[in-house]
Amino acid sequence: MAAQLDVVAPREDPWAVALRQFNRAADHLPLKRGIREFLAYPKRELTVNFPVKMDDGSVRVFTGYRVHHSTVLGPTKGGIRYHPGVTLNGIRALAMWMTWKCSVVGLPYGGAKGGVVVDPHALSRDELEHLTRRYATEISILMSPEGDIPAPDLGTDAQIMAWIMDTYSMHVGHSTPSVVTGKPLSIGGSFGRAEAPGRGVWLVAREACRHVGIPLEGARVAIQGFGAVGATVAALLHDHGCVIVALSDTQGGIYNPSGLDPRAVRAHKDQHGTVVGFRGADRLSTAELLALPCDILVPSALEAQITGENAGAVRAKIVVEAANGPLTPDADDILADAGIFVVPDIVANSGGVIVSYFEWVQGLQQFFWSEEEVHHNLERIMRRSFGQVLQTSVEKGVTLRTAALIRAIDRVADALLTRGIYP
Ligand code: NAD
Repeated sequence: MAAQLDVVAPREDPWAVALRQFNRAADHLPLKRGIREFLAYPKRELTVNFPVKMDDGSVRVFTGYRVHHSTVLGPTKGGIRYHPGVTLNGIRALAMWMTWKCSVVGLPYGGAKGGVVVDPHALSRDELEHLTRRYATEISILMSPEGDIPAPDLGTDAQIMAWIMDTYSMHVGHSTPSVVTGKPLSIGGSFGRAEAPGRGVWLVAREACRHVGIPLEGARVAIQGFGAVGATVAALLHDHGCVIVALSDTQGGIYNPSGLDPRAVRAHKDQHGTVVGFRGADRLSTAELLALPCDILVPSALEAQITGENAGAVRAKIVVEAANGPLTPDADDILADAGIFVVPDIVANSGGVIVSYFEWVQGLQQFFWSEEEVHHNLERIMRRSFGQVLQTSVEKGVTLRTAALIRAIDRVADALLTRGIYP
């Protein structure tokens, strides 16, 4: 099961952040007013309140959401989040970011996101399964292999995807693996999917270092959020010669200027539930981690972690957004003025949805790829996307985020105009 979670309220409303980012990029495009409005707003939103029988015989009502931001490029794709801080606005923002992410890397998907307001660690395994199966049933009016394909996100994992796949399959009367991605290998998952978001972050960190002129070998790295994504990023960067100086989770952070071994930290976290207390490291706070002098800072936890309030303290040379939405537009401006190179989430963490796409294709065809094929195709798409976004950023004199959004919005707008406005 995924790592320990606490309630950490985003410091800025993610939907407001997503719209500000959208407007900045849309200003560079010749979009007619109605088209711009249509691209900004979610296509459909579902809120569900549903009962779950708890182990003690009581019944608790949970609230969940599934938002489809756009269906212009194809079926919707996006993760399911289990977290006490889930809100409709947060899910809207995450769905919109999924649209731009799929668009900028060239996938035939629109964006979606789902979530349940729950701390998954406060439930027993049976309760988690009941909640998942009921939530899957509630959103099944939107979910299908051709229409909307969920995946894991914060607080969910391959086992939860397996329960969703099984629930859907029971309802339709036949096994339907391609209704979700991020499944275990035993039921049609893809090699390389679990590590794909982290692998993609490593690939773009390498490209960013090349561009900025910092050798990856010996680069000093701080990572906020040692979960599914953050732990993979830490291991891959460590394996490629980086010095991981700091790591953190909700309980706090650890620091060792000589470098931490991510696998040893993982073993400690598996045993104690937190990175805190790892031997041979000093303790530090999240605020201190974000302000460490280092080459690469990787926010890998939640939205709005670096804002107008604390961006001035960031002393990294490169920021690679493994999390979705960790920087607000105010933070973007401050980091750009300071000459800090930011690789935006919709490029940096797109490895997850790229390999999800591979998993979906493999499931539909019932023809499975080797791990090498998955890694090779992931690298090909990520390097191409990073290069295209960098080129747009240089040509237009804008940040990588605005460049990525310009490309992403333009592709969706073009497809929309080509399809036409129905009826
Ligand atoms: P996870 O639940 O496995 O891990 C999240 C980690 O962040 C945990 O270690 C938690 O303790 C830590 N954390 C939470 N709040 C923190 C804080 N304020 N300070 C420090 N640490 C904190 O989740 P994940 O799947 O690794 O997702 C992390 C981010 O990556 C999210 O933004 C998610 O949307 C994004 N993402 C996930 C995937 C995926 O496939 N899982 C793909 C792309 C992007």
